[in-house]
Amino acid sequence: MRPYEYIRSSSPAEALRANAASEKPHYLGGGTNLIDLMKEDVERPDTLIEVSGLDFQSVTANAAGGYTLGAMISNTDTANHPEVKNNYPLLSMAMVSAATEQIRNMATNGGNLLQRTRCPYFYETSMPCNKREPGSGCGALTGMNALHAIFGWSKSCVAVNPSDMCTALAALGATVVVLQPDGGSERRIPFADFHRLPGDTPEKDTNLEPGELIVGIELGEPKFSDNYYYLKIRERSSYAFALVSVAAGLQLDGNRIVDAGLAMGGVAHKPWKLTAAEEYLRGKVPEAAVFEEAAERAMADARPLDDNEYKVEMGKKAIVRALMQAYERTA
Ligand SMILES: Cc1cc2nc3c(=O)[nH]c(=O)nc-3n(C[C@H](O)[C@H](O)[C@H](O)COP(=O)(O)OP(=O)(O)OC[C@H]3O[C@@H](n4cnc5c(N)ncnc54)[C@H](O)[C@@H]3O)c2cc1C
Repeated sequence: MRPYEYIRSSSPAEALRANAASEKPHYLGGGTNLIDLMKEDVERPDTLIEVSGLDFQSVTANAAGGYTLGAMISNTDTANHPEVKNNYPLLSMAMVSAATEQIRNMATNGGNLLQRTRCPYFYETSMPCNKREPGSGCGALTGMNALHAIFGWSKSCVAVNPSDMCTALAALGATVVVLQPDGGSERRIPFADFHRLPGDTPEKDTNLEPGELIVGIELGEPKFSDNYYYLKIRERSSYAFALVSVAAGLQLDGNRIVDAGLAMGGVAHKPWKLTAAEEYLRGKVPEAAVFEEAAERAMADARPLDDNEYKVEMGKKAIVRALMQAYERTA
């Protein structure tokens, strides 16, 4: 690992100032992703600014009738918080499917939003990777791409976003709250606009501006608290990232679907919201044939690579199963 300066910030203003004063700064949350990447020589900050102790540690009621999750709360404390479990159990279920308990104890919500892809070409510095080194090429495009994207990829990058938390946030809808480096004025970013598709600039995972500090995640009114399911398909039942995951929430009125939230993980450079399927489901009677049609519509635009055609069929089946389990309340 290369030498770097470590600063433990005691206020947001101090963190923003320290960031502005450094050439290659990084905020430090739980360090579960960033420190690994520094050990692999993928990330090379000259300054680490510890922000995990800042006072954004609570879940608070907000003006939208929902709750705001502090960015510095651990993933464990967020998933187990009574307001999160009661009001957004889909989020809770997704979060506890991630990593291991020890990692979730360290990981913060802000860091989870910015965790980087697990593409092996990104981690292996002897291989080409436009995300790590713009202009070097994409090793996965014609290489080993079984774990890669089937939606929204470009010739520059076929990597996927690995976050389970973010897949659930895409299904629920959320707003990311950040402080800007100009002295700390607040900016709100709708979740759908937070992460980016790779296009020609895969080195940019999100639409955050340099130096912005994430301080919260706002959720609207409680959603899908009766009918929800997070289905994660992976190579091991623990300690593994999703090959494909589905966050599914249904709001029912009698035997009609009045609202649906659906998103997939493991299939695109950003959490992949299934808007066409959500629209199709509204007003329908929940039954297998309806869920199957929703899955067909969701996967209609899939563009698999050489090694990941399996994700298309797996994705359809996962959508049907997640919707069925949400409907039958078998979480
Ligand atoms: C072995 C292993 C298995 C895992 N399995 C899964 C899994 O199955 N599913 C899953 O979803 N995740 C998984 N993870 C990833 C884990 O969830 C992330 O590492 C974690 O959420 C990152 O949070 P952190 O606070 O440790 O971030 P850090 O490592 O501290 O930071 C990550 C990035 O966020 C930036 N950052 C941190 N906080 C802020 C802030 N407040 N404002 C602005 N920038 C900030 C940092 O500068 C850095 O760029 C796994 C990790 C490991 C090591």
